[in-house]
Amino acid sequence: MKQFKTESKKLLDLMINSIYTNREIFLRELVSNASDAIDKLSFAALTDSTVGVSQDDLAILVSFDKDARTVTVSDNGIGMGEAELEENLGTIAHSGSEEFKAEHAGSQGDATDIIGQFGVGFYSSFMVASRVRVVSRAFGADAAYAWESDGIEGYTIGPAAAGERAGAGDHGTDVILYLRESTEDEDTDRFLSEWALRDLVKRYSNYVRHPIRMMVTKSIPVENPDELPEDAPRYVEHQELETVNSMIPIWKKRSSEVEQSDYDEFYKSTFHDFSDPARTISFHAEGAISYDALLFIPGEAPFDLYSKDYEKGLALYSSNVLIQEKCADLLPDHYNFVRGVIDSPDVTLNISRETLQHNAQLRAIAKRVERKIGSELQTMLADDRELYETFFEHFGRGIKFGIYNSYGMGAGDLADLLLFWSAREQGMVTLREYVLSMAEGQDKILYAAGDSRERLERMPAVTSVVARGYDVLLCTQDVDEFMLQAMRTYHMDAVAGDTEDAGTDARDIELANVSTADLDLATDEERSAAEQATKDNEGLFQAMAEKLGDKVSAVRVSANLTDAPACISTEGPVSLEMERVMMQGPDAAMTPRAQRVLELNARHPVFERLVATQESGDSDRLALYASLLYDQALLVEGLPVDDPVEFAKNVCALM
Ligand code: ADP
Repeated sequence: MKQFKTESKKLLDLMINSIYTNREIFLRELVSNASDAIDKLSFAALTDSTVGVSQDDLAILVSFDKDARTVTVSDNGIGMGEAELEENLGTIAHSGSEEFKAEHAGSQGDATDIIGQFGVGFYSSFMVASRVRVVSRAFGADAAYAWESDGIEGYTIGPAAAGERAGAGDHGTDVILYLRESTEDEDTDRFLSEWALRDLVKRYSNYVRHPIRMMVTKSIPVENPDELPEDAPRYVEHQELETVNSMIPIWKKRSSEVEQSDYDEFYKSTFHDFSDPARTISFHAEGAISYDALLFIPGEAPFDLYSKDYEKGLALYSSNVLIQEKCADLLPDHYNFVRGVIDSPDVTLNISRETLQHNAQLRAIAKRVERKIGSELQTMLADDRELYETFFEHFGRGIKFGIYNSYGMGAGDLADLLLFWSAREQGMVTLREYVLSMAEGQDKILYAAGDSRERLERMPAVTSVVARGYDVLLCTQDVDEFMLQAMRTYHMDAVAGDTEDAGTDARDIELANVSTADLDLATDEERSAAEQATKDNEGLFQAMAEKLGDKVSAVRVSANLTDAPACISTEGPVSLEMERVMMQGPDAAMTPRAQRVLELNARHPVFERLVATQESGDSDRLALYASLLYDQALLVEGLPVDDPVEFAKNVCALM
């Protein structure tokens, strides 16, 4: 017997033993696999004329045997050879087991997140079965192989038994589950009934495009009942093979004909998600190119969304054949989280997958898809704010990257999907909402960027702006400031309707970082006081700048500061926050440094001390003060001081 890998064992154990109420989903997982296997064979038949299979013969069969306590899912799809059995069923979750181990080590929680996420669909069999036997014969091969396992220790692979998939056309797979004994917690007996299995197929796999057949018992009236004796039964039981699922792909139906719960079920089973989608978008295009589209905005981000392994894309079907499971060209990067299906008889089939990428038809579809998603998100934002905020928490980062990556050019509609934390509202606001509630005379959208909201809220550059009655957007995601800089302005459409703001014209509003921009928020009086202080103390600033050397490009008075004695602002394109983010990246050594300016508050008592020290001619003391003010301003920004030892020494010297 071959042993499962350690992490596989752990995963299996978790899956089998966790308190998982929804064990019945094993059937939909097996049916999905069977359907995929049929898809693969149909695709091969379409692209290779030597594969002579007829679409009509391809089907899935679900059966059970009460005495043997088995449930079997069979298909006549592509099948697996010995090596494939080993590769596909021997290692569980090849894709993500390492991450899984890291994340879930020791947790015996809900297995729901695990199944599917890591491609462990098949292993859900072990939730109900104590032993699983897979007999498979690859299409074109002349023998079948069997894989068998108790799901605990390991598995065996060998030639199939005599009579198992032995006939010439016997390609495909049987998955035979030997059900566990029923216990108080789990009634496995219930799966040994025609009615129950049929119900599960209907519930979870109704829209699988291939026929799912079951042997069903039917009562049919006897012929000539009048000629029978009085007590003879009027009906006889009769077994017949019946297609249990509707087979019409759900995306072909009008949304008015489909219950949301059906969409949810389809979504969950097809895309291996355990929560319902946040939104479902169904549309049908006719004309130069016709297609059916069914798209879902997930409720939660898949675990690997922001990893480089994540593959975006929509499933692409043409005339009932799956052409590509994840056609990346159908989705822009900023909507990479969307899942769904495009089915078009017009997509040329006989082209290879590479040339598919440059297909003009696909581009046309992709454009429409993008617009649909955008407008659905707008609707969601307008109709269900709470849901949208959750959505944005999960997927906002991708949208921001979309704007950043297009150098702000793609900002157009995407900008209206953004949410930011408002220091004044203490909640998320859109740019539009921000603009509509701007203070009298305010002409810029103000933001601050840093690694934590709490710290940003206390930053002098922020507190002084807030104290003046302006709102500041607090940005804490690494991409935020890069994106805002790429955008430069926010284009707001004219406000129509009968609200207070109606009649507001369309305009472009500048986006400004409170610690880099020349904000000009001070009153005339404050400004002239600052100008005066600047004029009177040129010598002081020069002396301080000299003492600080190349740490700063200038020392000056800021009219904007209210309570803090000093702050660091920057000149030029790189802000402190951008510098911090870039320093964490791979190109740290090449990161351009932010040009720092030490800004002083001329109305603060500390300023008087500086002036007095300068006048006294104590240049060592002035150097000490300059250095301390600079370091403490850095600390307030959440940045490390350049030389902590020096800083500590300076503090002691002061004491
Ligand atoms: P997933 O389907 O998510 O990839 P599974 O654990 O369910 O993960 O299956 C692993 C692999 O085993 C599949 O990707 C497929 O290659 C293969 N497989 C499973 N069931 C069948 C089947 N009925 N016919 C052919 N191949 C199958």
